[in-house]
Amino acid sequence: MDEERITQIVEQVVARFAREGGGAPAVLKHGRGSAPIQGRGVHPNVDAAAKAAKRAFSDLHDCSLADRRRYIAALRRVTLLHLEDMARMAVEETGLGRVLDKIEKNRLVAEKTPGVEALEPKTWTGDYGLTLTEFAPYGVIGSITPCTNPTETILNNGIGMVAAGNTVVFNTHPNAKALSAWFIDLLNGAIEGCGGPSNVFNCVSNPTIESAQTLMKHPDIRLLVVTGGGGVVRAAMASGKRAIAAGPGNPPVVVDETADIQQAARDLVFGASLDNNIICIVEKEVIAVADIADALKREMVANHAVEIRGRDLRRLEKLLITPDNHVNRDYIGKDAALILADAGIRVAESTRLAFAEVEEGHPFVQHEMLMPVLGFVRAPDADAAIDCAVRVEHGYGHTSVMHSTNIRALSKMARAVNTSIFVKNAPSTAGVGLDGEGFTSWTIASPTGEGMTYAIHFARARRCVLKDAFRIV
Ligand code: NAD
Repeated sequence: MDEERITQIVEQVVARFAREGGGAPAVLKHGRGSAPIQGRGVHPNVDAAAKAAKRAFSDLHDCSLADRRRYIAALRRVTLLHLEDMARMAVEETGLGRVLDKIEKNRLVAEKTPGVEALEPKTWTGDYGLTLTEFAPYGVIGSITPCTNPTETILNNGIGMVAAGNTVVFNTHPNAKALSAWFIDLLNGAIEGCGGPSNVFNCVSNPTIESAQTLMKHPDIRLLVVTGGGGVVRAAMASGKRAIAAGPGNPPVVVDETADIQQAARDLVFGASLDNNIICIVEKEVIAVADIADALKREMVANHAVEIRGRDLRRLEKLLITPDNHVNRDYIGKDAALILADAGIRVAESTRLAFAEVEEGHPFVQHEMLMPVLGFVRAPDADAAIDCAVRVEHGYGHTSVMHSTNIRALSKMARAVNTSIFVKNAPSTAGVGLDGEGFTSWTIASPTGEGMTYAIHFARARRCVLKDAFRIV
């Protein structure tokens, strides 16, 4: 998208913000040409952002837990008021995903990200007295965010980090920089609007890989939290700083002969097509036991999926996989109907997902495609399907799904696949709390082992021991 279009979008949103009287005045401007994006918490470089975050940390340190609860309530509220704007801006600026799906993703983050309540202190009492563990902030956290869930990650990290008393410098994705700066301005306005410190959230106006690397080395950053592909995960883990790293996945969904096939088809089309498959946790390939494979395909087609075969499949492969066996990035996050049209295949606009029966080694199975196009592999039985799922997950340890009513098979897969999230008999999205129990997280840190991150991972555990006193029995 060109500079002019970004300017237009930001101006429309700012005008709407002013019309609706949305709290503090929006000062965000996206300058033309090389003029920088401006806003509360938006800085020209990493050093200025880190300094502002450091000052804000000392202000936040003086705030009570009740204050932090109020700030977080305001963050949730302001997000819920702007869901549609955020979703539209995200699709326009990044060119990825679907507006309605983004509204639901952001709503989920606003409603189900844990706050201060997650930092429950622990106590032990006994013959020797009393021991207490409480959770303290790190200080200034550096957070690097993806273009696939730009506002979702800022809010989800932001709530958890503030809950634990930290301030943040975000290096947002270059392809989502205007939206991210707008959102950071909005969130800072919400905190200031209820009497809180300025610049709790910060970012650089022109984020790049170089600014991300500067952030990784900055002396004022105590903890790094990175969410993205393999490159940024490796860079963070090699930075020498403590890092929480959330990397790529390739979630398989296994369907065996004991599953409720109608439900499995409905669930997997829903999960795999949500926001056009750009979400790291959603189904990226299907492995079906042969006995039910044809029935599963029929049910998928009944749920707005299309099967691609023969010459059409050859054309689709040519479009989506480059000669050196990489994913054609031009089609990441695009609608299925658009991708298929470019491959010369006409389908209804309402088509959510395309799938093709292929061998396990096929690129549609092996690659994290991040688009609504899935490989479908037929396996002789549940054991073979589970073995295949383990191989194609590539040891990322990220997310996997199984549809089955056989407890032995479900338990076998749960142990064998060893992922941070394992979903049984539901869409993958239940794993992040969308129509599923439990809190939500949009930084699922498999490489560094935290799994679904939340406030507790952004806090230091501190113990205090009092000898021979404060027991009451
Ligand atoms: P990306 O890796 O291209 O970018 C993520 C961020 O890292 C951006 O801000 C980018 O500027 C920065 N970055 C990239 N390479 C870097 C490097 N070498 N040094 C410093 N910074 C660098 O990812 P994306 O396309 O925005 O997002 C999609 C990828 O992220 C997928 O692989 C997806 O699975 C993964 N992801 C994982 C999670 C999770 O919770 N595990 C969540 C969302 C996305």
